[in-house]
Amino acid sequence: MLNSSFIHKQLITTKFLSRCYTCRNELRCKVLVVGAGAGGCSVVWRLHKKLSDKDIIVIEPSAVHYYQPLFTLIGAGIKKFPQSHKPLQSILPSKVMWLKDQVDEFDPCNNAVFTHCGLRVRYDSLVIGVGLKNDYDKIPGLSRYLKDPLVQVSTIYSPQFCTKCWCNVHRFGGGHAIFTFPKEVGKCSGAAQKIMYLAHDYWKKVIYFCLD
Ligand SMILES: Cc1cc2nc3c(=O)[nH]c(=O)nc-3n(C[C@H](O)[C@H](O)[C@H](O)COP(=O)(O)OP(=O)(O)OC[C@H]3O[C@@H](n4cnc5c(N)ncnc54)[C@H](O)[C@@H]3O)c2cc1C
Repeated sequence: MLNSSFIHKQLITTKFLSRCYTCRNELRCKVLVVGAGAGGCSVVWRLHKKLSDKDIIVIEPSAVHYYQPLFTLIGAGIKKFPQSHKPLQSILPSKVMWLKDQVDEFDPCNNAVFTHCGLRVRYDSLVIGVGLKNDYDKIPGLSRYLKDPLVQVSTIYSPQFCTKCWCNVHRFGGGHAIFTFPKEVGKCSGAAQKIMYLAHDYWKKVIYFCLD
């Protein structure tokens, strides 16, 4: 069991702690939103116009919200990385409670979730928006090569590597460039083609410029 000072520490990021119903290591709300990505945030903005702010709790471990479609344009050198993200607190409705934590276990029979930090959060309605997680380790060697700045392997599907993609496109000196397309459903699989067309367009312009 956790004491109340632990709970307070976990909620330090929220602006309106006093409005939340806390009871030892338990919180309650009308609507619980798990994940504050594109889906979670849009649901929160819609609901907060209809419900009282204290009725909504958001659980999200990341303090940074990424606008992922921009990763493709960063990979093509059209946008800069700082344009792709903002502090999460700045894009949530100011009075909605954000719990900087992650859900480890769902208990739908009892309308509750358990968080990594040991809280039990009970809800009337639950919205799950945890997105997709890329598992680079499923391709042998990929994680290692992505992290190696000397190896020209990159992906637009991660905030960690989309800038490296632009370095590779920019530095490409001719030969074969290989673009891969996911076999199964992934995050916006069309983006895998989009970066290929954008890179091709960039190389065409560079070649024309050099021939002039
Ligand atoms: C390179 C790229 C290009 C794209 N281009 C386009 C495009 O052009 N057009 C388009 O419509 N879409 C595009 N997308 C897709 C779009 O970004 C996603 O569809 C959208 O972000 C999905 O929203 P989501 O809320 O489901 O997940 P996400 O936005 O990924 O958010 C999930 C959130 O859940 C949180 N989370 C995960 N696990 C837990 C947990 N256990 N507890 C609490 N929180 C958790 C994560 O930290 C994250 O913040 C693109 C995506 C990528 C990567």
